[in-house]
Amino acid sequence: MLKKLIQSIRSPLRKKRAVRTTPEVIGNHQHPLRREQFSRNAVNVVERLQKAGYQAYVVGGGVRDPLLGIPPKDFDVATSATPEQVRAEFRNARVIGRRFKLVHVHFGREIIEVATFRANHPQDDDESDSNQSSRNESGRILRDNVYGTLEDDAQRRDFTMNALYFDVTAERILDYAHGVHDIRNRLIRLIGDPEQRYLEDPVRMLRAVRFAAKLDFEIEKHTAQPIHRLAPLLRDIPSARLFDEVIKLFLSGHAERTFELLVHYGLFAPLFPASAKALERDPEYAGKLIRQALANTDTRIHQGKPVTPAFLFAALLWPALPARVLQLQERGMPPIPAMQEAAQDLIYEQCQRTAVPKRFTIPIREIWDMQERLPRRQGKRADMLLENPRFRAGYDFLLLRESAGEETGGLGDWWTDYQDASDSERRGMIRNLSSQEDGAAPRKRRRGGSNRRRRGPRSDSDGAGNE
Ligand code: ATP
Ligand code: MG
Repeated sequence: MLKKLIQSIRSPLRKKRAVRTTPEVIGNHQHPLRREQFSRNAVNVVERLQKAGYQAYVVGGGVRDPLLGIPPKDFDVATSATPEQVRAEFRNARVIGRRFKLVHVHFGREIIEVATFRANHPQDDDESDSNQSSRNESGRILRDNVYGTLEDDAQRRDFTMNALYFDVTAERILDYAHGVHDIRNRLIRLIGDPEQRYLEDPVRMLRAVRFAAKLDFEIEKHTAQPIHRLAPLLRDIPSARLFDEVIKLFLSGHAERTFELLVHYGLFAPLFPASAKALERDPEYAGKLIRQALANTDTRIHQGKPVTPAFLFAALLWPALPARVLQLQERGMPPIPAMQEAAQDLIYEQCQRTAVPKRFTIPIREIWDMQERLPRRQGKRADMLLENPRFRAGYDFLLLRESAGEETGGLGDWWTDYQDASDSERRGMIRNLSSQEDGAAPRKRRRGGSNRRRRGPRSDSDGAGNE
């Protein structure tokens, strides 16, 4: 099916944004960037490389974001020095990556990423230099280590806004692809032929969406147009890389908007096939739950609070669980084992697409297990649950389910009250339960009415499951 898709897209209709061979040089009186704004470490790396006789520039988000008045996430440096030459200049440097070799120069917690100028791959170069560069049958670049000149490097960058090189010494910007113009017009535009660039690396589709959400930019028409059709190419990308991309998509503070764009461009289904099906089946509930989880995550990030991928994945996958549990139950499996098996299968399948590390899959299961345990509060169970290290995330998750319209018999309120209650009040609450069926909580309202906030003062949580 992928083959068919690839054949269908080798059409002659191609709109290109070419790269200039001589850049537009934007002098320091024509732009607001000053070297003091840049990370001291990034400037040091550039100067050190220049002193050693190499060309070196700050590039990518480290130039683009400050032009927009946004603090950049990190600083990337592009240089004519090879990775080995870079490593020789710094004691604190490590060569990383195979597909794309680069050097991480470590300064405490800050890492400056140094990449050697790359050249574009000739279309059919598999035979010629397969050690440094190779493509698969769809044109996807499997190895991208052919070095080139600065001009070559500008050409192989993804978007025009990312092909700006800042010369920290002269405070000049070298603009090879009208990137400043596109930034001014808030446009995300691929360099070169969009289809070919997506075929070379389908992750560029995710990057387009990520930047559109983060920067509040439009994806330019020709850059946007092939995405829906080419979205299935993401299935071909190694799952470890896709996990990293998903983290960038959803943990950068613009998850809600990113989600809307992913769905719009058909990119959500290849990343989260089971969740996409659940969204189709029950758009009201699944959509509400996922959007609420993402909105809570964004809020926490903007407040500088930590967030965990486990809670996020627990929420993204949750709407896909019930159908599977039901299927297993219909085959005669009792509810609890059915839930366990469905959870395990679902996570396993998701890992085929995005390799979620074990340190997150285990807490995902624990958050889900908590959902079965929270209704059972008899005897000492409630107090034991409160002591459970996963209680906070489980409780937040319960509130999230309720906010999406799941009926739990007021369980969230009960737990909110229980956390705030004194010892004797707690004993009373448990006694009250004994007269009820376990699982259906009495809605004990606090003095002061029923419109209070749903969370107790002891909770720092806001539904993103993190403390
Ligand atoms: P941010 O760091 O905010 O995510 P960025 O633009 O700096 O944004 P990085 O992933 O740090 O993105 O990459 C640095 C630069 O490397 C990009 O600006 C772009 O020029 C180039 N680049 C990264 N990924 C690709 C890709 N898949 N294809 C082409 N060029 C890329
Ligand atoms: Mg960057």
